[in-house]
Amino acid sequence: MTHYNKLLEPLDLGFTQLKNRVLMGSMHTGLEEEKDGFTKLAAFYAKRAQGGVGLIVTGGVSPNRLGALYPFAAKLTNRKEVLKHKLVTDAVHAHGGKIAMQILHGGRYSFHPFALAPSRIKAPINKFTPFAMPGFLVESTIRDYVRCAKLAQDAGYDGVEIMGSEGYLINQFIVSHTNKRKDKWGGNYANRMRFPLEIVRRIRQQVGSNFILIYRLSMLDLVKDGSSWQEVVELAQAIEKAGATLINTGIGWHETKVPTIATMVPRGAFTFVSQKLRTHVTIPVITTNRINTPELAEEIIASGMADMVSMARPMLADADFVRKAAENKADEINTCIGCNQACLDHVFMKKVASCLVNPLACRETEPHMVVVKRQKNIAVIGAGPAGLSCSLTLAQRGHKVTIYEKDTMLGGQFNIAKQIPGKEEFNETLRYFSVMLNKYQVQLKLGTVATVDELCAHKFDDIVIATGIVPRSLDIEGINHPKVLSYLDVLKYKKPVGKKVAIIGAGGIGFDVAEYLLSSAHNDNLLEFMHLWGIDNTLTERGGLAKPQPITPIRQLYMLQRSESKLGKRLGKTTGWIHRESLKKHQVKMIAGANYTKIDDVGLHYVQNDKHHTCEVDNVVICAGQESYNILALELKNHGYDNVHVVGGAFIAKELDAKYAIYEGAKLGNSL
Ligand code: NAP
Ligand code: SF4
Repeated sequence: MTHYNKLLEPLDLGFTQLKNRVLMGSMHTGLEEEKDGFTKLAAFYAKRAQGGVGLIVTGGVSPNRLGALYPFAAKLTNRKEVLKHKLVTDAVHAHGGKIAMQILHGGRYSFHPFALAPSRIKAPINKFTPFAMPGFLVESTIRDYVRCAKLAQDAGYDGVEIMGSEGYLINQFIVSHTNKRKDKWGGNYANRMRFPLEIVRRIRQQVGSNFILIYRLSMLDLVKDGSSWQEVVELAQAIEKAGATLINTGIGWHETKVPTIATMVPRGAFTFVSQKLRTHVTIPVITTNRINTPELAEEIIASGMADMVSMARPMLADADFVRKAAENKADEINTCIGCNQACLDHVFMKKVASCLVNPLACRETEPHMVVVKRQKNIAVIGAGPAGLSCSLTLAQRGHKVTIYEKDTMLGGQFNIAKQIPGKEEFNETLRYFSVMLNKYQVQLKLGTVATVDELCAHKFDDIVIATGIVPRSLDIEGINHPKVLSYLDVLKYKKPVGKKVAIIGAGGIGFDVAEYLLSSAHNDNLLEFMHLWGIDNTLTERGGLAKPQPITPIRQLYMLQRSESKLGKRLGKTTGWIHRESLKKHQVKMIAGANYTKIDDVGLHYVQNDKHHTCEVDNVVICAGQESYNILALELKNHGYDNVHVVGGAFIAKELDAKYAIYEGAKLGNSL
């Protein structure tokens, strides 16, 4: 008997049945455009089908060349491409899964000079201004959608999803902000929704009744002059009438200045929108955004908020999410932490996606987890991200592993990160590693400093040094003044911090410390999150946008860096703006090009543009990067120990982050 009865209940669509209520949401992986990409894509989706997902939706595929998101991005326009897609559908069906292909036309979000849109209005996130589509091109684009759906059917897909949200072409037709046309495709709402309705109606006519047709409907545009709730309902009802099988939820456009999927968005924050729509249509409604555990998904289905739950990134993080839930092994699920670091950030940088917590994602065709012929006795020193990842991989392959950790708990830097408001999901990563290390019988020596003598006495075959980093120490006059704290003093040792604080360093840790120090005023529940970011939870304002409520910060913060560039420039591509915007809302003073001269009773003195300045503060917190900590490796080598491997921050501190540490740990674990 599973704990997730409702989630795992089949969904009857009349002509076909989905085996459960879990939809793997659409996500571009970048494999689509790789050499032999479809073979890799087939393996990627097959693994998720094998893991028990009810219905998979592919990443977006353009119905014509001009709708592609960038030159040579995936499209389906001819029979030759059908053969490539067949690799995917055959693989998924062979594992008992079902798969629909998403049809996505980028419109003004296409990153090439020939982008098309309803009107010639540039998107704020694209350097290319689109051409306005003449009427005949609107007609031919609809025909392209229909041809694409038919080709998808020929390729063996169980259905298609029409991408009508996130600000892509269809959304651009619907909303007056981007549609200024005077013909039958613009003007009043009936005209503006004609484009999606014609697409759905004509596709249904072409593919027949036994083919899944999902429409992803923008229920909350979160842009100026977005749809009103009445318009959303009207569109949903018309889409149902036009022949859709399922309605999926879309929240926000890509240009929206409101976080919709990042970690700091409370779990299930937008499900209330799907729930409200569900009362207006008779076809099943799928909900989405920041749903990452089977408990929450079950609660949503059981309480009738939606008929299905879409999870895209959680399926990257763990292909066996559904199977583990069904076997009541939810504590073995490697939970998506919503960081975007290896998935969306990669895709936006035109790199193949993967997952921070599961570096094997999108690498399904590479050899890994090969069970060893000879078991070795291996010591791993350090239980931070790299050490944990390496240990688990080694143990899963059949080695005998002992972890030495000087702290009394597992996690290293994870234990720092999990305290940052909006980063609590790291607790899930820690839970996952601790359950899995136990399952694979890794021996834990917590609170134990590994010494050369002890390690030599055990005659380990290999020793992995994953001792991480130490904060960089600075050479500024007054650096030992009592008001100076390291970020560890603040986050780990919880030393008291005053009301006025200067933070030296504006990297990931600097921003994290700032969020932490501002935290009691921070959004720690749904309502506060909505007020902070201006989301209208009453659904009475156009586009769901309300006026953000001003904040009275609990501290006055200054954040400084030496370089002249924008502060936080190197933060994640898809999340950096959120951190910068959040600190702006809390009135943090950002100072670039600072040359630190002294710290004294008054505060932090610096020179900027040849002028002397002082931040009169109670504390100065140093967040100036890190240095590798790997003394033990040197000592072991001096003792003639050869099989010593240094990994993660202990190997290289520059550019170190959890993604790199976990990946490098797994890579080493696969090689020994
Ligand atoms: P970091 O990103 O390298 O930033 C270090 C900061 O310290 C920079 O602002 C740098 O700016 C300053 N700095 C460097 N050397 C200095 C010196 N000698 N004196 C004074 N200032 C100095 O390092 P981090 O913040 O410790 O983060 C470590 C890693 O974790 C990074 O890879 C980061 O991306 C990752 N991380 C990411 C996130 C996130 O994306 N949200 C959160 C936490 C950590 P100047 O050189 O201009 O002064
Ligand atoms: Fe989730 Fe981060 Fe993995 Fe993306 S990289 S799937 S957000 S854990």
